[in-house]
Amino acid sequence: MAYRPQVVSAQIVSKNQSNDLFQVVAQLEDRLECRLTFSGDASTGDAKATHISRLLKEPCPICRKDYLCNCMTRYMEPISVQVLEKLK
Ligand SMILES: [Zn+2]
Repeated sequence: MAYRPQVVSAQIVSKNQSNDLFQVVAQLEDRLECRLTFSGDASTGDAKATHISRLLKEPCPICRKDYLCNCMTRYMEPISVQVLEKLK
């Protein structure tokens, strides 16, 4: 069954003015939390996700591991699109 990430909230947690990178923590509907790194401008939505990692509070919804895995990388695109919507 395909995993369908649903972002319920997103918050910018750090911003680096000098290199235009910012980090966001996103909460998903299934209680999952992810940290995403974006490059670009959050205020215009003109930003691109460069990295995503799952915060280790909940097991991975895909492989069920409760330690580091790379599953979320496959969902970086749909999650980052939703995150940018929330940040507008
Ligand atoms: Zn996984």
